[in-house]
Amino acid sequence: MPVNRAERVSAKSVLRAARRKIEKAGSDTPYLDALLLLSSTMGVTREELYARAHDTMTDTAVRRFESLLERRLRGEPIAYILGRQEFYGLSFTVDRRVLVPRPDSELLVDVALRLLSKRSAPRVHDSCTGSGCIGIALAHERPDAFVSLSDVSADSLEIALENAGRILDHTIPIVESDLLDRFKTNEALWPPELRDRYGPPFDMITCNPPYLTTWDMQVLRGEIRASSHSEEVGPAAAERVPATEPALALDGGSDGLDIVRRLIRTSLATMSKNGYILIEAADAQSQQIELLLRTAGFTETFIERDLSGMRRVIGGVA
Ligand code: GLN
Repeated sequence: MPVNRAERVSAKSVLRAARRKIEKAGSDTPYLDALLLLSSTMGVTREELYARAHDTMTDTAVRRFESLLERRLRGEPIAYILGRQEFYGLSFTVDRRVLVPRPDSELLVDVALRLLSKRSAPRVHDSCTGSGCIGIALAHERPDAFVSLSDVSADSLEIALENAGRILDHTIPIVESDLLDRFKTNEALWPPELRDRYGPPFDMITCNPPYLTTWDMQVLRGEIRASSHSEEVGPAAAERVPATEPALALDGGSDGLDIVRRLIRTSLATMSKNGYILIEAADAQSQQIELLLRTAGFTETFIERDLSGMRRVIGGVA
């Protein structure tokens, strides 16, 4: 216990004790984690918490905080504990059914918006949508676009649906589909009035597929040690991912590209001429993905780097 319940404790002392414990448990951001958990417990913003640092906490509040802290100490991501994660300036609901939206993926949204800037009312599809963060951010930034979302996980679609309903002021189609399988034809998918606007041919497909390698997944499960490998696609990727996230959203097979290969093979048939495909992947996979795109018949390909200089988004023109 970080505090002695017999005494009245201040928010500040609870914060300090929690910070030490979280640090010991191996978090890179112990102070921020503690601040977020405590401000959530007290129902105040982080800024308000500073002003209330000397407030005495009630026993109930301390107990509530400790149960959140316990979850963090067991390695659960803050986003799952708080039930939300910021992405592209929007607040997304998240839980164990979906991957926590990463700042890395904001690059994909940036690139998509740039490429779509000269096209009006584009048809955009976000495959492997998970929480919906990429597609919903695009739909939010471009209300004229006809954005649809899909995922193979029915569980994740419940979250995407919740996020779309809360964040957007228009309804968008959300479909259960293994990659683009259900989009081979537009006929069976939805009523004629939607067919005119949503579905193939897509002017853009976005996808943050599962792309971790079998090796990464073994590191995640604690079966092998991360230090036995040194490429970015290895430990740098895997160490960031807490074991509580769904394997379905992460596991890309032996070289991490099983899903990417299948996506690329099936995407052209659903795209309009000069449409774009944008795929997120790890730095070390980017050149191979470019090659896969060219082999599949994409006319132009390109790679975009994230803020840390990593090749992160691979694109192709249909
Ligand atoms: N970007 C994630 C990571 O932290 C991997 C996500 C994915 O497989 N799509 O490595």
